Parts: sequence; structure tokens; C-alpha cells
Amino acid sequence: MAEEEEKTVLICMPINFNGYVVPGSLKVKCDRCSELVWVAPSGWLVPNKDIICWHCGFAEMEKEGTTTVRVTPAQLEEIEEYRRQKQGGHYEPNPR
Ligand SMILES: [Zn+2]
Repeated sequence: MAEEEEKTVLICMPINFNGYVVPGSLKVKCDRCSELVWVAPSGWLVPNKDIICWHCGFAEMEKEGTTTVRVTPAQLEEIEEYRRQKQGGHYEPNPR
């Protein structure tokens, strides 16, 4: 009989970050700072969620540990995919 709602926090990449975007992602505003972020298809179906940008998400993680901010397995894969791309040398935040 837990009255407290379980909230899932989706941490999403800001659209101006110029990184890897999962195909089919939607632009949604961060619930904290209103920055536009990409929400991947895996995130649409998550019920009762907060959508926040990386900046807000990482700030909350540092503040509260990992107990309140939970990332879905699918999201982890997406983040891993992004990191692989970055490490693979395809990632260019400032093309010259
Ligand atoms: Zn934010």
C-alpha cells in the first residue's frame, strides 16, 4: 500500500549536444530547466516519468546518490552506444 509513486527519471541528451541521437527520438522539454532533449523510443513507454536533461540528471545523481535517479536498461544501452561512438572517433562536438 505504498502511496508514494515510483517515479522513473529519464536522463536525456540535450538536442544542442550534437551527439548520437537514437532514430525515432522525440524532442521534449526537460522537466527541470526546460531545455529541449531527445527522448528515445524506449523512453516513451515508461509510465510516471520525469524527463530531464543530462545536466540536471547528473547534478541530481551527485546530490542524492543513485537511489532516486534510475536509468532504464534500454537507456543504458543507448548511453553506452553513444559512448562507444565517442570513443570510436566518430563524435565531433566541434567540427572544424
Ligand atoms: Zn535540465
